[in-house]
Amino acid sequence: MSILVVGSVAFDSIETPHGAVKNCLGGAATHFSLAASYFTQVRVIGVVGKDFTAEHEAIFTRRGIDTKGIERSEGLSFHWTGSYSGNMDEAKTLGTDLNVFETFEPKIPDAYKDSEYLFLANIDPVLQARVRSQMPKVRMVCGDTMNYWIADHSANLAKVLRELDVLLINDGEARMLAGERNLVVAAEKVLAMGPKTLIVKHGEYGATAFFSDRSFTGREKALRPFRAPALPLAEVVDPTGAGDSFAGGFYGYLASQPELTPAVLRTAMFYGGVMGSFAVERFGTERLQNVSREEIDERFKLFLEISHLEHAGV
Ligand code: AMP
Repeated sequence: MSILVVGSVAFDSIETPHGAVKNCLGGAATHFSLAASYFTQVRVIGVVGKDFTAEHEAIFTRRGIDTKGIERSEGLSFHWTGSYSGNMDEAKTLGTDLNVFETFEPKIPDAYKDSEYLFLANIDPVLQARVRSQMPKVRMVCGDTMNYWIADHSANLAKVLRELDVLLINDGEARMLAGERNLVVAAEKVLAMGPKTLIVKHGEYGATAFFSDRSFTGREKALRPFRAPALPLAEVVDPTGAGDSFAGGFYGYLASQPELTPAVLRTAMFYGGVMGSFAVERFGTERLQNVSREEIDERFKLFLEISHLEHAGV
């Protein structure tokens, strides 16, 4: 099974209480692809500038990620500057230089047209919609967005939401999108906008799935929400890309399974947590480039352990 992802391939300059890095490889599509590559074949659509070298490309290809859809353009790649302070629960954006992204027109190579899973990473909803319309036969569409698009591009975003099987956003974004503080009520409102399933990420506290009665075919009744944990970590070096890595682990696992069932979706949320927990251990993509299958399996077991309850009786 192949996942086609469209999103930013970027250079990030990041400052956290653990140090600072300049121009390290980042971008939503990058973090997503690396995380998903441990589960399934990934193809990337994006744009980069002259500063994207063969070494940067090798970070993708070493993980078997198909980079044919990464377009080279004159000028510089997208550059994001951000910092984290205190408990690092939120990134402060200090700069967003769109550069080659400004005039980006996603083109889907013919060889990508048979991709069965589509991930619309956080980019302009107009571009998300354009890619979606060029992939009419996909089996599943999952998408992300952020406060900027929710606040100022809501009409365009609404069109994308109507087409989504799964929307993956963080809790602040869910509340903002619904205009509602209570998360359960907000989730109901968001599901009414189109996505069949909503997954709300709570950073270091895990993620919650909310289901509509359209989440799984053959069911007329919605399932109760499901909460997956995050791993309590003694040291978080850089939270950048944790959400995209969650999405990569989640969607990569889903795409590797023959069927979408409630159990598969719940397991996928645990794999999302596993990949997110690796991502934050080092700056940029460093950790996600070199995780072993054994480490993933071991950490998955840890997730089962920390959330397992042996009922002690009434
Ligand atoms: P996350 O921490 O998972 O929310 O994602 C962080 C990544 O998103 C960074 O690697 C950035 O390069 C990328 N990013 C930040 N702002 C934007 C934006 N406006 N559009 C697309 N990608 C972005």
